[in-house]
Amino acid sequence: MNWDEFAHWGKHIADWAADYHKTIGDLPVRAQTSPGQIAAQLAATAPETGEAMDAIMADFERIVMPGITHWQHPRFFAYFPANAAPPSILAEMLVSTLAVQCMLWQTSPAATEMEGVMVDWLRQAMGLPDHFTGVTQDSASSATLSAVLTMRERATGYTGNREGLSGKGHLRIYCSEQVHSSIDRACWVAGIGQDNLVKIGHGTSGHAFEMDPYELQSRITEDRKAGHTPAGIIAITGGTGIGAWDFLEPIAEIAKAEDLYTHLDAAWAGAAMICPEYRDQFWAGVEHYDSIVFNPHKWLGTQFDCSVQFLADAKPQLNTLKIEPEYLKTSGDAVTNYSEWTIPLGRRFRALKLWFLMRSYGLEELRNRMRNHVRWAQELCEEIRGMEGFEIVTEPILSLFTFRCSGDDAAQQRLVDALNDDGRIYITQGMHEGRKMIRFQAGQFETTREDVMMTKDVIADVWGKLR
Ligand SMILES: *Cc1c(COP(=O)(O)O)cnc(C)c1O
Repeated sequence: MNWDEFAHWGKHIADWAADYHKTIGDLPVRAQTSPGQIAAQLAATAPETGEAMDAIMADFERIVMPGITHWQHPRFFAYFPANAAPPSILAEMLVSTLAVQCMLWQTSPAATEMEGVMVDWLRQAMGLPDHFTGVTQDSASSATLSAVLTMRERATGYTGNREGLSGKGHLRIYCSEQVHSSIDRACWVAGIGQDNLVKIGHGTSGHAFEMDPYELQSRITEDRKAGHTPAGIIAITGGTGIGAWDFLEPIAEIAKAEDLYTHLDAAWAGAAMICPEYRDQFWAGVEHYDSIVFNPHKWLGTQFDCSVQFLADAKPQLNTLKIEPEYLKTSGDAVTNYSEWTIPLGRRFRALKLWFLMRSYGLEELRNRMRNHVRWAQELCEEIRGMEGFEIVTEPILSLFTFRCSGDDAAQQRLVDALNDDGRIYITQGMHEGRKMIRFQAGQFETTREDVMMTKDVIADVWGKLR
């Protein structure tokens, strides 16, 4: 392909993208294909000679599109949102055109310097004190792994990387039962082990499902008595299942008294902390945390991947991850080389899409969207509460709530599957206190009140047909 053909197809694809988004609401949200159906239509071997772009594009529409689940659909209410606001798509087009690696300052000074400034824009927007710096990562999973590795190294006097862990006894990490599976996996990969991830039960607030600080304290004390080495605590703001959120202040006090490193997983809910009223509600004490992760690639609007890890002090993580072979040395300037802060060396120019997004909308517009999602989810929750045969399982936490229809666990799954086969909305199931429930969250960038409220009618319709 020459660059003139590229320009032609680039315009075509931009037009295609706009049309796709303008008509996306007419498509079924979840792909309606069965396993193997797409693979069967793809050539089994790569072509020996090149094919024309119009043939490739035609096949894209014919073969690929039916197998797409539309995450940008305004009635995508499953999992958490993975938004891609239009200015961030444009930034990604530029990023993929430049295709730079941003591992060192000198491998693209603009990317490194903009990353520092964008992390600071977000720090200010989220009300974090100015001692926090930070770095972008590909995912919250990677940021959490970085934090867990830092806990490990800090607790072993920074000897784990060199000596390995054998003979060092059991390192212990504490979290609630509501954490995301990425925390378990980080403990597996870091050599801590699942059995040394201590899951604390919930306190008595009744609706936050927060980690019980009394149990936390007693487990730490018992572990020390047993000769184990407590290494860190992982708190959450907005767990994946029901949006559970820990009370940050009491956990931070225990961490301080016990000299434990703290990481806060706010992958989803963190975005909403650009609204001061949610900070007051959910984030009292956040300033005491050592590491905080949130994903602009979820609710805020930049598309995947873009996770931000804030660090109160970058040194412990740098002491854990920094490695400087000769070929990566640069001439000793006072510059930041972000690859020293993270596990992968190669890094995308993620800051550009944050810059495009925040400049294009302004923080107030981004806040308004999230406030609307929260308000509409609460309205819908009240509607479902009033429906015959339905009950609310967990009350809305921001824009997430869960409910059940009458019947056993299998009945919940039948309703979820029937709704997703219907295609007008997309939702998923979850487990809460041993029972299956149905999970709803609003957060797609272009969803409207009408989209959210329509959920009630779709549920009533599909439920009626099932019975
Ligand atoms: C989505 C999510 C994660 C994982 O995020 P990735 O960026 O996909 O790794 C972790 N924790 C919570 C609470 C999440 O919502």
